Amino acid sequence: MHNTARALINLAALRHNLGVVRMLCPRSRVMAMVKADAYGHGLLRVASALSTADGFAVARLSEALALRKAGVEQRILLLGTLLDVPDLALCSEQNIDVVAHDQFSVNLIVAQARRTPLRVWLKLDSGMHRLGLHPTAFVEADQKLSRHTGVLELVHMTHFSDACNQDIIEKQMSYFFRYHMMSSQAPVSIANSAALIARTDTHCDWVRPGIMLYGDDPVGVGSAISLLPAMTLSAHLIAIREIGPGESVGYNARWTSPRVSRIGTVGVGYGDGYPRHARNGTPVWIDGHLASLVGQVSMDSLTVDLTECPQIRLGDRAILWGPQLPVATIADSASTISYELFTSIQPRVTRDYS
Ligand code: PLP
Repeated sequence: MHNTARALINLAALRHNLGVVRMLCPRSRVMAMVKADAYGHGLLRVASALSTADGFAVARLSEALALRKAGVEQRILLLGTLLDVPDLALCSEQNIDVVAHDQFSVNLIVAQARRTPLRVWLKLDSGMHRLGLHPTAFVEADQKLSRHTGVLELVHMTHFSDACNQDIIEKQMSYFFRYHMMSSQAPVSIANSAALIARTDTHCDWVRPGIMLYGDDPVGVGSAISLLPAMTLSAHLIAIREIGPGESVGYNARWTSPRVSRIGTVGVGYGDGYPRHARNGTPVWIDGHLASLVGQVSMDSLTVDLTECPQIRLGDRAILWGPQLPVATIADSASTISYELFTSIQPRVTRDYS
C-alpha cells in the first residue's frame, strides 16, 4: 500500500466535459484553458486528452513552449504577461498567440510584427481592471494592428469580473461591444465557463472554458448541464483510535469530543494541498459514508469522526473530493474556490490517469 495521497485524473471525464462545451457552443471555437498545469490536472496529459480543442491557453511562456515541444499543433494562446523582445520572437517562431493588454505590449508587438509575424489577441478592460486596454487605447491599437501586415490574425477579447452575475455581464458586454463596433470588428472572445453556460450571447467566435472542463460547474445548482469531475483526491486511513468525552483532537484543541468517539487519521494534509482552513464538519467520503472532519488539518494528515461508521478499517481509502464528493463543497467549507484547491495539489501527491 502506498502511503501517499493520490490524485486520479479521469481523462474520459475531461473529454466528456469538452463535449458539453461543444454542445453548448456549437458555432464557437474552443480555447481550452490549461494554465497553471491544467488547473493542477497535468498540462500535457490534459492537452492530449483534449486534443479536439481548437486551442490551449496558458499564462506562462514556459507552459506554451512545453505544449509545442510535446507536439501540440493547435493554436496556443499566451495570456497577458510582461513580454520582451526575445519572448515575442520566440512566440512568433513557435506560432504562439500573444495578448496585447497594455500600451507597452502593443508597442512591442507592433515592432516585433514588422520583423516576424504574430497572431494577436487585443484585450479591452471592460471592468475587471486587472489587464486590458482603456477604450481609447484599444481603438487606437486596433487601428494599428488590424492593418499591420505582420499581424496574421487579430481577435478582440475581454474577461468578466463575475460571470455568475447577470448585471455585471450586461454591463461589461455593452461596454465591450461599444468599442468593438468602433474598431475593425475582429473575431471576438469573451466567455469563460460561467458565461458560456449561462448565456449564449457570450459565445461569439472563441469561448475560453476552464473550470468546467475539469468538471466543476461554476453556475452550480440550477444549471442543467452534466459535467463529470475529472479529479479524485484520495488517501488512506493511517490510524484509528478511540477517545473519551471532553478529549480534544489535533492542534489547538479545535474540536472536543462530546462522547466516546472513534477517530480516524487520514494521510493527507495541507502539505499535500488539502485546505488547512477546512472547517469542522467538512465531509470526507469513506467506503460509502460521509464522515466529518474534526480538528485542525495538519501538514501530513487530517482527522475524521468515524463513530457512526464502525465497519471502516485501517487502510481504507478516504476520498477528499471527486465524483462522490463535489470539490465545490470542500472549497465552500474552507472559504475558497475549487480553482485554488486544484492548483494547490503538491508534487508529493501521486498523480495517476485512467
Ligand atoms: N479567460 C481568462 C482570461 C481567464 O483568466 C480564465 C481563468 O481564470 C478563463 C478564461 C477561464 O475561466 P473559468 O475557469 O472560470 O472558465
